[in-house]
Amino acid sequence: MSLALNLDHSSAVRPAMASRPSLIGLSKAGLAAALIEHDVVPEREGRMRASQLWNWLYVNGVTDFDRMTNVAKPVRQKLAEAFNLDRPEIVTEQVSVDGTRKWLFRFRDPQNPNMPPVEVETVYIPESDRGTLCVSSQVGCTLTCSFCHTGTQKLVRNLTAGEILGQVLMARERLGDFPGGSRPDDGGLVPGGETRAITNIVMMGMGEPLYNYDNVKQALLIASAGDGMSISKRRITLSTSGVVPYIEPTGREIDVMLAISLHAVRDDLRDVLVPINKKWPLKELLEACRNYPGLSNARRITFEYVMLDGINDSDAEARELVRLLAGIPAKINLIPFNPWPGSNYGTSPSSRIERFADIVNKAGYASPVRTPRGRDIFAACGQLKSESERLSKKDRDALLVL
Ligand code: SAH
Ligand code: SF4
Repeated sequence: MSLALNLDHSSAVRPAMASRPSLIGLSKAGLAAALIEHDVVPEREGRMRASQLWNWLYVNGVTDFDRMTNVAKPVRQKLAEAFNLDRPEIVTEQVSVDGTRKWLFRFRDPQNPNMPPVEVETVYIPESDRGTLCVSSQVGCTLTCSFCHTGTQKLVRNLTAGEILGQVLMARERLGDFPGGSRPDDGGLVPGGETRAITNIVMMGMGEPLYNYDNVKQALLIASAGDGMSISKRRITLSTSGVVPYIEPTGREIDVMLAISLHAVRDDLRDVLVPINKKWPLKELLEACRNYPGLSNARRITFEYVMLDGINDSDAEARELVRLLAGIPAKINLIPFNPWPGSNYGTSPSSRIERFADIVNKAGYASPVRTPRGRDIFAACGQLKSESERLSKKDRDALLVL
């Protein structure tokens, strides 16, 4: 059972206009440059004003230039004329019986305001010691992992850095995480001892983050900036299906925790489950993991392994998994398969998952079994999908001339 709210959209921020670009998602230097370029402030004031804005946007969560009280009124007015601070519109907000929340967010294409909006899902998972936000990087996914619902949706487009951050900002607002904000009334939301509802971010929503590297990098650098949203890089995890050329840059440039969707220990099976394996097979993938910058026992790579009944869940495969990962500081995260309409797989029985976990544990690896969360609202791993579909060229062209 779940509670679905259809929210009053009148409070949602208006969609972006092409002539007023968003300031969300710009680096601090980018903010200063934008202010100067649009003649909002003289060059000498650029850095100072950018720092003020940064604080309003990411520490205080302000969506209205008029609330920026330490910015002179004429400057606020110029800002409002030149830029917007739009966040996504909330289409639906669902709350699972287990407290998991799922939002369907709607974005306009900032470059093409006449294009139909796209929609993505974002999930909040409260636990006793943390609150994790599962963020999407793309609308749909170009990859077609055979057990993943998102993979059945055609990619419409990459999300911009501002749209990736927009999910975090909107979730923080709904969860009362900004100063002066109010928490939802369902209680038990803030993990024990924490002052914030969102303590962790996982790039495990819709899409392959390393196929949208530049925007994901920009968004995560902003989310982790100590003088802004300040989410520790140790509490941000990026999950990839194995886009090998971007693994090293992820560690060097973004410096977040890495998770790999492994799911199989042989190339022939991984070619079917995670077809990107045909391009970058296991040997290359594991080599890239061994060389992940900053890898140590204190900073392990998480290997995700979906438990598919009779497909990849034998004792022999558990032993092979241990052998494959030898020498890599690793955690193994066993994920019971989450079914979706039309999926062709079954979830391994819990006795099988326990036996598999046991073999992996005895070899010295922590191998928590991920408890499915929010299944009743279709918010669990691999269940996310939105209705946004790729338009035919004819339809796109028709819309562009509107
Ligand atoms: N595209 C990225 C991140 C998003 S998916 C990636 O593939 O890593 C987050 C995790 O959920 C991945 O490990 C993915 O393989 C897994 N997953 C996908 N579909 C699933 C399903 N139906 N049941 C359980 N896990 C699933
Ligand atoms: Fe895309 Fe990840 Fe799903 Fe594969 S598992 S289709 S990479 S979202």
